Amino acid sequence: MPLKVKVDRRLCIGAASCVAVAPNTFELDSEGKAVIKKKDGSQTSEFVSYSDINDTETNIERAAKSCPVNAVVIIEVDEQGKEIRQVWPQ
Ligand code: SF4
Repeated sequence: MPLKVKVDRRLCIGAASCVAVAPNTFELDSEGKAVIKKKDGSQTSEFVSYSDINDTETNIERAAKSCPVNAVVIIEVDEQGKEIRQVWPQ
């Protein structure tokens, strides 16, 4: 099933471990909070489909697990993009 990832900006403390682990997916914005880089060049902290990101599933998962405050959230979605279950944090 497809996966999506987002950053919970209320939790993010700008520790940047996600950026270190997966620089193709994450970077810090001007507020020092992580955002997700999309293939089209835009950035968001909202849910993004893995298919819109230039990175591997493994890398994104490693980055999520590296976040000290569990601010990176991964969900599994159905074909319509609707959430089926939360994959991380468990
Ligand atoms: S590792 Fe977590 S706290 Fe650090 S920048 Fe990434 S999302 Fe934010």
